[in-house]
Amino acid sequence: MLFLEFAELCNRLEKISGRLETITILAETIASLSEEDLPHFSRLILGRPFPDWSGQKLGVGPSLLYEAVAYVTGKKREEVIDRLSRVGDAGVAVEDLLSQKSQTSFFNVELSLSDIMAALIEISEAGGGRSQKEKIRVIQRLLSSATPLEGHYLTAILLEDFRIGVGEGNLRDAIAQAFSVNPRLVEYANQVRNDPGEVAVLSKRGEDALQSVRLVPFHPVRMMLARQGTILGVLEEGKPVAVEYKYDGARFQFHKQNAHCKMYSRRLEDVTSAMPDVIALLDAALPDDVIVDGEVIAVSDGHPLPFQTVLRRFRRKHNVAQAADAISMVPNLFDILYYDGEMLIGLPFYKRREMLCKIVHTYVTPQLVSDNEEEIEAYYHAALDAGHEGVMLKLQDSRYTPGVRGKDWVKIKPEADTLDLVVTGAEWGEGKRAHLFGSFLLSVRSGEKLVPISRVATGFSDEQLAWLHDTLQGDIQIEKGKMVYFEPRLVFEIGYSEIQKSPNYEGGYALRFPRFIEFREDKDIKEANTAEDIEERYEQTRQLKKPAL
Ligand code: AMP
Repeated sequence: MLFLEFAELCNRLEKISGRLETITILAETIASLSEEDLPHFSRLILGRPFPDWSGQKLGVGPSLLYEAVAYVTGKKREEVIDRLSRVGDAGVAVEDLLSQKSQTSFFNVELSLSDIMAALIEISEAGGGRSQKEKIRVIQRLLSSATPLEGHYLTAILLEDFRIGVGEGNLRDAIAQAFSVNPRLVEYANQVRNDPGEVAVLSKRGEDALQSVRLVPFHPVRMMLARQGTILGVLEEGKPVAVEYKYDGARFQFHKQNAHCKMYSRRLEDVTSAMPDVIALLDAALPDDVIVDGEVIAVSDGHPLPFQTVLRRFRRKHNVAQAADAISMVPNLFDILYYDGEMLIGLPFYKRREMLCKIVHTYVTPQLVSDNEEEIEAYYHAALDAGHEGVMLKLQDSRYTPGVRGKDWVKIKPEADTLDLVVTGAEWGEGKRAHLFGSFLLSVRSGEKLVPISRVATGFSDEQLAWLHDTLQGDIQIEKGKMVYFEPRLVFEIGYSEIQKSPNYEGGYALRFPRFIEFREDKDIKEANTAEDIEERYEQTRQLKKPAL
């Protein structure tokens, strides 16, 4: 497939709002692709050139891209930034700039999808001191061969800001339609393999190929997630549930095979080298050939420390040994996904738990199994008294569903009135804070879009504001007066007193008394709250406020 055909398809899909039409067009294209193009296409159409499990990253920030665009179009860097500020979308701005140039020179080389993928791999592998220069060189090469439309979508891919209205669900259904296989099987295979590219190829081979997928060590799967809920709500099912402490730490997946160990964070980053102490504990505690799921907490004098302490360790690249001495880390294991060549995710939770308890004797999360509300509530209070975040209720007969936030795991914690929101902009401060950001614009997810819902200016320490300034400066895409808009990357946990209807924000809602609680660097922007969550919470509180009849 030519990259130009891909770009034209993206352009066409972007203009369609109907789900069925999107799926039909995608399915027709997918059915026509060669086995070589199929995996590239299935990853790129989601804007993710590399499978999540691979840990490969492009590492291209806006400033690097601007430099390459300036070079190729013969403009000054400032002109490029200015154009972007006016247009508001980096892809469209690059398309404009390239089309001005188009009369004179270039695009003599036709780019194929494979050429693009090879270049993206080159970019991701550029390392060492010269990495920025090498990345720029590859981007310049691509952009000087690209037509304006190709430049548009290439930019979106490079900045990881690719939003053409094709989500995982659409792709799943299109693949199923293209090869006449069951979409549920496509979904299952994607949960296990964590790579839409590989799954597209398996689908082409048929349902047997999809059914035969296996988990293997060192190929992490997404973590199973929890919903917010109530004890009574879960007990309505009429069955005893498993109750565990909800630890306030950092999620991890630990893999061990042939005495080789690796640890992955919730975002599937390889954090092995940052956590030598925890790796040593788990290595000693676990048998060979195993994948387990858990939460690591930081402990001092037997009491859990705030979860940022653990995250700081995850990010650490230097002085790891000193950091390990200063705070002790304790892993808590609550699930097992694979053992001794067997994939266990299809077993009911109580069976997986039996297996976990059989093969590990330390670090397994204590558990209560009960259908009694008072007993569960007492357990919940004991968890809070011990400094934990609350409890998790898990349905005994549930399978392990990677990446799914379903009804099978329910979190119960006191601070229900918090939201995880994406930081999409900021306003420069005033007075002595004029060189820092003073308030931040926060957004919820709405389909593929991010919709502003609030600003937050309170709850930050001076150190946090300084850190935010340093961290977010490289993410600025647009500056308008005192406002800047970021390439979205960070998630804040925000407390508030009420959700109100409001004409001030596009989504129609606003938060009353928003305050910053903490950074959620462990969360991807895809895990932030959605516009539907806001609506649901608004309706819930409205019901509660209604006078009793
Ligand atoms: P939240 O981050 O608020 O969405 O809550 C879900 C997170 O709680 C999971 O992703 C885990 O990191 C964490 N967690 C803490 N204790 C447990 C537990 N016993 N079982 C599952 N998840 C837990």
